[in-house]
Amino acid sequence: MSTSASCCKRIKRILLKISGESFCPPDSRGVSMDSVNHLAAQIVEVAKLGIEVAVVMGGGNILRGAQFKASNGAGSIQEATAHYMGMLATVINGLALQDAIEAQGQVTRLMTAIQMDAVAEPYIRRRARRHLEKGRVVILAGGTGSPFVTTDTAAAQRALELECDLILKATKVDGVYSADPNKDPNAVFYPELTFEEALRQNLRVMDSEAFAKCAEHDMPIMVFNFRDEKNLVRVVNGEHVGTLIRKERSDC
Ligand code: UDP
Repeated sequence: MSTSASCCKRIKRILLKISGESFCPPDSRGVSMDSVNHLAAQIVEVAKLGIEVAVVMGGGNILRGAQFKASNGAGSIQEATAHYMGMLATVINGLALQDAIEAQGQVTRLMTAIQMDAVAEPYIRRRARRHLEKGRVVILAGGTGSPFVTTDTAAAQRALELECDLILKATKVDGVYSADPNKDPNAVFYPELTFEEALRQNLRVMDSEAFAKCAEHDMPIMVFNFRDEKNLVRVVNGEHVGTLIRKERSDC
């Protein structure tokens, strides 16, 4: 794998997208504080280096709205309701992550797209930026606040409006492959891709709406394996980890 710099410009502010499944052991559900603490330690290490960190929290370890589609035998829960339930699941995860990070000595703010005054601040872009500038880890829960999309879309949206340098998508594999490496031994690993290549090859890096937003606004995405606890620090130190997707390949 290449060890060239991950991006030409120095990384100052990142948006980390954490899926809910990283909060529990493989093939289980719910919140395991061992898993949460493991991720929290990586976030704290990066924040202590002076990197501004915004985290968009997923909720799939608890609930995804799509599982309640009428075609899935959902009964009487409307699909939109189920998506709101999914957004609330991200707040449960956000609260767990907040305590785990703060227990390790790092100041945080939890902000939600759905107002929940008793547990979190409302998401206000300028306020979120101010928290980041002050070195607080900003945990963004509640997705976009609107149903029928996923937290990938929230990640793209927030990365753009908070002017992050890079989206880091934490996954349980090393990056983007031509096929699922857990199922296909011939799957090819891609250290680098352009948005166009990923689209042409129909590689599902993020949900399509989120990916289109990143491509349109030239927001680089790095897909990396969060189970290697040094990866996050490697990325912010300019090492090439996982798969980097951006507008054009470059020599830097
Ligand atoms: N969700 C939503 N709007 C959003 C973000 C999330 O309706 O802006 C719902 C959607 O049902 C989604 C669920 O919340 O499936 C949990 O988020 P996601 O599936 O992205 O979690 P992850 O897969 O990252 O754990």
